[in-house]
Amino acid sequence: MPERFDFDTSKVWFVGAGPGDKTLITLKGYRLLQQAQVVIYAGSLINTELLEYCPADAECHDSASLTLHQITDLMIGGVKAGKLVVRLQTGDLSLYGSIREQGEVLSEHGISFVSVPGVSSFLGAASQLGVEYTVPEVSQSLIITRIEGRTPMPPKESLESFAAHQTSMAIFLSVQDITGVVKQLTSGGYPPETPVAVVYKATWEDCQIVRATLADIAERVKASGICKTALILVGPFLGDEYHYSKLYDAGFSHEYRQA
Ligand code: SAH
Repeated sequence: MPERFDFDTSKVWFVGAGPGDKTLITLKGYRLLQQAQVVIYAGSLINTELLEYCPADAECHDSASLTLHQITDLMIGGVKAGKLVVRLQTGDLSLYGSIREQGEVLSEHGISFVSVPGVSSFLGAASQLGVEYTVPEVSQSLIITRIEGRTPMPPKESLESFAAHQTSMAIFLSVQDITGVVKQLTSGGYPPETPVAVVYKATWEDCQIVRATLADIAERVKASGICKTALILVGPFLGDEYHYSKLYDAGFSHEYRQA
């Protein structure tokens, strides 16, 4: 028998499912699934193999076709019945997770929620490529953003304005308009030879990677047929230039080591 944990059933447990690979959920998320009685999962993005961790009699609902209130009604019903309710969402909850609006409806019913973090897809994509977003003397910052869709972008956050920094970028929810992305990045200042990687379904078995430069990525992505569930990674961190970090440099002293 697996060990039982005392999770508070008066709250809803929002769990980050990770990027795809079903073993990339946190141990806490896994334990919650093992004891869950009601699971509401974002079926369009999460790996449904994760549901195999749940008890056979758990009620599992795919939220893909549900409205906000249908989702929250399921949660409220579960909590009122004294059940352990888990809301399973892709990657980590803190990026494009829409947890606030769900939390607001819950709070109107006197129910609070707890968040359990997950491995975001931008981290899954970096591991899939074996790269670092931060490369000494090349790039020390990462911009996480998206282009405008039905959700408008705040006016000060255009892709074009971010491109002026020429640092590393992970662009979510935008591959369907790769041509528009390239246009904005180029007019914002990235040279056409800037390396780009489009990672479709990072950490899944059917992951696909398209590597190119800003000059030809749009064409390559269109040829690949990728139009959703992908990240656009851009910046010189994907290129050949790098410098050794000072941390492991034998000639460099720090708190734990003498030169
Ligand atoms: N909270 C999620 C993001 C949700 S928004 C996270 O932390 O990853 C959904 C978008 O995330 C998708 O359109 C895609 O851009 C990206 N995404 C989610 N899973 C992905 C994966 N396995 N590989 C590549 N991109 C992914």
